[in-house]
Amino acid sequence: MPVEIACVPVLHDNYVWLVHDPVSGETAVVDPAVADPVMEAAAARGWTITQIWNTHWHGDHIGGNAAIKAATGCTVTGPAREADKIDTLDVPVGEGDHAMLGALRAEIWDVPAHTAGHIAYYLPEAGVIFVGDTLFAMGCGRLFEGTADQMFANMQRLSRLDGATRVYCAHEYTLSNGRFAQAMDPDNADIARRMAEVEALRAQGEPTVPTTIALERATNPFMRADSVAELARLRAVKDNF
Ligand code: ZN
Ligand code: FE
Repeated sequence: MPVEIACVPVLHDNYVWLVHDPVSGETAVVDPAVADPVMEAAAARGWTITQIWNTHWHGDHIGGNAAIKAATGCTVTGPAREADKIDTLDVPVGEGDHAMLGALRAEIWDVPAHTAGHIAYYLPEAGVIFVGDTLFAMGCGRLFEGTADQMFANMQRLSRLDGATRVYCAHEYTLSNGRFAQAMDPDNADIARRMAEVEALRAQGEPTVPTTIALERATNPFMRADSVAELARLRAVKDNF
C-alpha cells in the first residue's frame, strides 16, 4: 500500500502535510504551523500522529510542535543546525541522516538559504520530497539566512531528481509566483498554460501543491536560472515585485 498524503491548509497560506504509512500505521506531520486543525484532520482520517518532521525553525513551521507532542507523545525530528531554535526537538538530523516512517525511509538533505540549517525530506520509494520554504511552485524561498550560491545549488540538486517526483512545499504562493514568472519569461508557453490551470484551481479554493520536478524545470525561473548571478538578480527583483 502506498503512502497517503493529506493537505491541511492553515493560517493565511500555509500547507501542513500529513504523511500516513498504512503498513505501520505511523503518521508524520510536516511543519505543523498550528496544532488543533492538524490533529482534527488526522483524527478525521483515523490517523494518530506519531512523528513531527520540521524543515526549519520559523514559527509558521513549528508553532504546533509543543501542543501536538503533548497530546500524542510523538517524536520531533528537525534540523540539527537549528536545534537551539526548536526547543521541542527530539531527533536532530542533517545531510546523510534519515528518518523512518515504518519501513519507509526519508533521506535528509541540507538545503540552507531560506534559513541557515533548512532541511528537506526525500522519500525515494514514494517519489516525494518535502521542501519546506526552499522550492515553491514557480518560486523559491527568500534568502533570510543564506546566499544565492546556496539557493542555486539547492535548485540544481532538486532539478536532478526524477521529473515525476512530487514536491510538497509549505505555502500557497503559486499565483503571485506565476505572475512573476510570466513577467520574467513572457514567451514561455508552459508558464502560460500552467497559469490558466492555477487560476482555475485557486478560483475554486483548491491547492496548487504538490507540484512536480518536471513542471518546475519547465516553469520555475529560479530553477531555470543558469548561474548564481542570474538567480541572485531574479531573487532581488522578486523581493520588490
Ligand atoms: Zn520560513
Ligand atoms: Fe514559511
